[in-house]
Amino acid sequence: MQNSITAYLEQTAKRLPHQIAYDDLTRAITFSELRTEAFCVAWRLIAEGIEKKPIVVFMKKSVECIASFLGIAYSRNFYTPIDVSMPATRIAKITETLSPAAVVTTKALFNKAKETFPDCVILPYEAMCDDACDEEKVLATASRVIDTDVLYILFTSGSTGTPKGVIIPHRSAIDYTDWFAERFAIDEHHNLGNQAPLYFDLSIQDVFLPIKCGCRTTLIPASRFTFPKDTVSLLVEKKINIIVWIPTALCLVANLKALKAPQLPKLEQVLFCGEVMPNKQLNAWRRAFPETRFVNLYGPTEACDACTYYIVDRAFDDAEVLPMGKACENTEILVLDEEDRPVEGDGIGELCIRGTSLAYGYYNNPEKTAQAFVQNPLNSAYPEMIYRTGDLVRRNQYGELEFVSRKDFQIKHMGYRIELGEIESAAVAESRVDLACCLYDSERSRIVLYYTGSIEESDLKRYMEDSVPVYMVPAKYHHLTEMPRNLNGKIDRALLGKSLNHKESK
Ligand code: AMP
Repeated sequence: MQNSITAYLEQTAKRLPHQIAYDDLTRAITFSELRTEAFCVAWRLIAEGIEKKPIVVFMKKSVECIASFLGIAYSRNFYTPIDVSMPATRIAKITETLSPAAVVTTKALFNKAKETFPDCVILPYEAMCDDACDEEKVLATASRVIDTDVLYILFTSGSTGTPKGVIIPHRSAIDYTDWFAERFAIDEHHNLGNQAPLYFDLSIQDVFLPIKCGCRTTLIPASRFTFPKDTVSLLVEKKINIIVWIPTALCLVANLKALKAPQLPKLEQVLFCGEVMPNKQLNAWRRAFPETRFVNLYGPTEACDACTYYIVDRAFDDAEVLPMGKACENTEILVLDEEDRPVEGDGIGELCIRGTSLAYGYYNNPEKTAQAFVQNPLNSAYPEMIYRTGDLVRRNQYGELEFVSRKDFQIKHMGYRIELGEIESAAVAESRVDLACCLYDSERSRIVLYYTGSIEESDLKRYMEDSVPVYMVPAKYHHLTEMPRNLNGKIDRALLGKSLNHKESK
C-alpha cells in the first residue's frame, strides 16, 4: 500500500540498488546509497525524539539535499528547503512562521546555519551519516506514516510581507508523481535534467520520479545556466532526454542561439511550467527538435505543481497564445465568474482547482488559508475544498484553457512567483521610507518601486538587496514627493502605471 512517498524508494532500492538515482555533477548516488543515507538522517531525528515537526533543509542543491528530504519523510517529519543565498531577514520571517524543530545542513554550511537559525538544533549531514543507524526503528517509524501526513512545506511570496508556507501532504505528492509518470510514460531509461531550485514547486517531479520509476535526475547547478551553450553541452554529456524547465530558462537558450550548437541532446520530451511560454521561443525549440514532444504545464505550488497540461499538437504563429490545455487526470478545474457561477462559452473566469494534489493551506496562517482554500461554491451538500488560484483564464475554440492574466498583484519575474506587496512591505520597513508602491513593467521585464521619504535611492537599493531575494530587488526606483491617491484614498496604481509607460523611452 502506498501510504508514503518513501514507499517508492523501498521498492526501487530493492529493484535497482546499484543504479544511479541522482547526480549533482560532484557526486552520483545510487538508490541503495540514497536509502542508506536517508535512513541515517531519519534515525538521528527519531533519536532526538522529533516527530511530525517541520525540519529545515539548509543546503545547496545536491544529492545530499534529496537524501535529507527522504530521511525527514521516513522519520515522520516534514521538510522545508531554504535557499542558502536568501537574505537573513526573509529567512527570519520564514523561521518565525515555521518554528523548525531542527535544521539539516552540511559541514561546510554549519557556521552559517548556526548564525541563521540561532535557536535551532543544527544537524550536519556528514555527522549523521557517520553514526550507526537503527534500521528496524526507522522502518517502524516509517510504517506509521499515513498519506494525509505532511510531506513538505514550500514557501512562496506573501502579499503582506510574510512568505506563505504551502503545506503538501504525502498523498498530494504521490498523486502528482503517479500522474506525471503515467501520462509521460517515465521509466528507467529516462534521464531528467533538473533546472529548478529545490525550494521551487517546479522541481517536484525531478525529486520524486527517480524513486518511483528508477529513472535518473541530474541536478544542474544554476551556474551552468549562465552560458546556454554550456547548458546544452551538459545535456549532451549527461545523456539527458527529458527536461521540465521554467520558460525563462528555455527562452534564454533559444535567444542566445544555443539551439544551433553542433551537437544537440536527444531530448524526447521538453516540458515547461510556471509562467507563459512565448510561442516565438517555443518555435525555435520546435525547429531544433522536430521529433520532440513539447508540453505546456500549468499550476501553482498549492496543487503540488501542474494541474493542467497541453501537449503541443499543432503549429502556432509566434504571436499566438499557447493553450494550457485541460485538467490533469484525477483533477477537476472549475472556471468561475465573479458570482462564483461556472463561466459559459469563451467567457473569462478564475481558475479553481479540486483534487488530491491540493495543499492543506498555509502553515500557521489561517487567514490566508481561508481566503484561498474554500468550500466549492457549486456544492453545498458536503465539505469539498477548492483552491482559488487568482488566475483568469478562458476557453478557446477547441475548448482548451488559455491563460489571460492575474486578478491581483502577483507577478512572475525571471520565473519566480512574487507578490508585489512583499516588496512594498520590505521597503516600508526601512525607517526613512514613508510609503512604497511596486509595479511590474512587463514590457521591460523589471520591477519598479515608487516611494516617498527621505532615503537616498542608492541607500534604498542597498537596503532592498539585503532584505529580499535577488529576483525581488527592484531594478528602477522613483522618489515621489507625494504618493498619488485615487477617489477611495488608495494609492493610485493605475496612474503610476501610466507614468511607467510614458515617462521613459526604452
Ligand atoms: P508557482 O506557485 O510558483 O508555481 O506559481 C503559480 C503561478 O504561476 C500560477 O498561479 C500562474 O499565475 C503562473 N503559471 C504557472 N504555470 C503557468 C503557465 N503554464 N502559463 C501561464 N502562467 C503560469
